[in-house]
Amino acid sequence: MIRHEAHGLVYYTFPSLEGEGIAHAVLTRKGGKSQPPYGGLNVGHRVGDNPQVVEANHRLILEHLGLKPQNLVTAHQVHGSAVAIIGHKHGGSIIPATDGLVTAQSGILLMLRFADCVPIFLYDPRHHTLALGHAGWRGIAAGLARSMVQAMSREMGSDPREIIAALGPAAGACCYTVGEEVIDSIKSSVPHWEKAVDRRNGAFYLDMWHSISLQLGGSGVSSIEISSICTAMNTEEFFSHRGEKGRTGRFACLAWLRE
Ligand SMILES: [Zn+2]
Repeated sequence: MIRHEAHGLVYYTFPSLEGEGIAHAVLTRKGGKSQPPYGGLNVGHRVGDNPQVVEANHRLILEHLGLKPQNLVTAHQVHGSAVAIIGHKHGGSIIPATDGLVTAQSGILLMLRFADCVPIFLYDPRHHTLALGHAGWRGIAAGLARSMVQAMSREMGSDPREIIAALGPAAGACCYTVGEEVIDSIKSSVPHWEKAVDRRNGAFYLDMWHSISLQLGGSGVSSIEISSICTAMNTEEFFSHRGEKGRTGRFACLAWLRE
């Protein structure tokens, strides 16, 4: 990924998503107003941080990226597989119980919040459509990535072979230990799941990036860029639920279609 610094904020972008049709940013925790353990650019409303400071952090991001709050659409993320089709009528709203947002309309800002789960960006340059998703092991077990591709195909006519996918910073297989019941829960939804599971020193490690890549591959998507920045090992720049034992904030991922 490419690292950017501007106005005190630090954010990353994917080379494969650089182009004329789409803009996106993976924000870090650098530059916000929150105090520890949420320091600094926390955008999570439900983690115990001061709500006014969280709102100020949102404004900071939008101002620095030159974006309007009335175009912002976020979701109440629940680790499920529900996908919502977003249009201008949703501007400024929070979609209930949804982990995947899809739009074909320029200027709508999709935003989700992360601290170890995998940010999923999907872009179809031919149909000019975009999806943003949030999946940890529950979202992997629920098949969110597949639901996102299906929504783009069904609602917008996308051919999965033309979709460009990018998977953002998340807890890597280096750090993401899980119980055997987690492995059991993903077996039926990840093709060749064994490729995404490692067993070291008697513990199971789940590679969430690889799991989602296998799901996307099974849905016909072959262009997949993986960030490989492990949030749990980079708590200087990213919030990590694992790396900070649950007392932490959420960083923002944003994407929108240009005019
Ligand atoms: Zn790691």
